Amino acid sequence: MNLNFGKQQLSIPGPSVIPDRVLQAMHRPSPNIYEGELVEMVSTLYPDLKAVARTRHHCAIYIANGHGAWEAAICNTLNRGDKVLVLVTGYFGRGWGDMAAALGIEVQFLDFGNRADADPNRVEDHLRTDTAHEIRAVVTVQTDTASSVQNNIPALRRAIDAAGHPALYWVDCIASLGCDRHKMDAWGVDLMVAGCQKGLMTPAGLSFVFFNDRADAAWATAGLNTPYWDWANRTRGEIFYQKFAGTAPTHHLYGLREALDMLVHEEGVEPCWHRHEVLSEAVWAALDAWSRAGDLSMNIKDAEKRSRAVTTIRTAPDDAGRLRQWCEHEGGLTLGIGLGLTQPDTRGRDKVFRIGHMGHLNPLMLMGCLGTIDAGLKALGIPHGTGAPEAAAQRIAAG
Ligand SMILES: *Cc1c(COP(=O)(O)O)cnc(C)c1O
Repeated sequence: MNLNFGKQQLSIPGPSVIPDRVLQAMHRPSPNIYEGELVEMVSTLYPDLKAVARTRHHCAIYIANGHGAWEAAICNTLNRGDKVLVLVTGYFGRGWGDMAAALGIEVQFLDFGNRADADPNRVEDHLRTDTAHEIRAVVTVQTDTASSVQNNIPALRRAIDAAGHPALYWVDCIASLGCDRHKMDAWGVDLMVAGCQKGLMTPAGLSFVFFNDRADAAWATAGLNTPYWDWANRTRGEIFYQKFAGTAPTHHLYGLREALDMLVHEEGVEPCWHRHEVLSEAVWAALDAWSRAGDLSMNIKDAEKRSRAVTTIRTAPDDAGRLRQWCEHEGGLTLGIGLGLTQPDTRGRDKVFRIGHMGHLNPLMLMGCLGTIDAGLKALGIPHGTGAPEAAAQRIAAG
């Protein structure tokens, strides 16, 4: 008998759950795109985006997903043949580097595997070998959404400084912005990219490049720049039409305005980080309990190095796939697939899943997610330790 007649929940690491208020804010006729209310509303988005990013500098908005922001960052700062150093801690760090390579950049990869963060000492050592200072940028993700590792962004900045290297420091916060603590200026990040569909709770389709004056200085000589991706008119243009290189993505912008009201003006950025801390620790408390028997385990062992937005879980072969199917069809819960973590010899033997716990999420939603997984493990006879929902409840109760 199927019991799945009720609200469905998406607990994948992006897109995240869209608040009803955001959907409602988008449900309206098209506005005047030349003057008046829309133009004024859009000018209020920039200070709030910068408040979330903790930067005083510049923010360009693109009608694009995160990959568009990646490309914008490369095109606005680099020339064909330039060198960058990419720190790989899973699928996403490599992705930005692969894109740069496809655009003619000479990419050096430092690979730290799928289960560890980028080691600042290795980064420092590598930069010291570049005595001619040819590397133009050190490129990393804060949260690698595939492995669910969280890189230590300030420690990597210190490594660049310790090597006395002038490279720009680029960070991908697409999964982490509005979830994990991030302080762009205080942490010495020169360029940061983000998307709207994860911590920012808005339907996929907007992305952001935040950059400081050091990164902007590279713009003047960036041979890869193109009219559409150019951030100059988007940030300095005097006509509203230039901010989006054409028609504004009107409804996404209304949705984003509502989401930023919720995040910046109602909850507050610091309390939002705290909420993600508590809820992620509740997920981990459940996983500690489940993994006391059977084969479930967290991909990242050290809690200090885990993302607060997503948790990657390993299972016995096939169990992850069976569990995802059960949760979706019998429970109304969609879990994330393992991305880039399944080895070639285990192709088809699905043994990784991910719980997204980013954005619009409260104890009710999280306990529903964990309780449904617990039911799925039982229904499928997957061996597991008991007491997971209880452990999560205790962590939430502690606040
Ligand atoms: C989701 C994600 C991306 C890709 O974003 P898209 O919007 O799918 O292009 C890149 N980096 C990280 C860290 C992500 O989580």
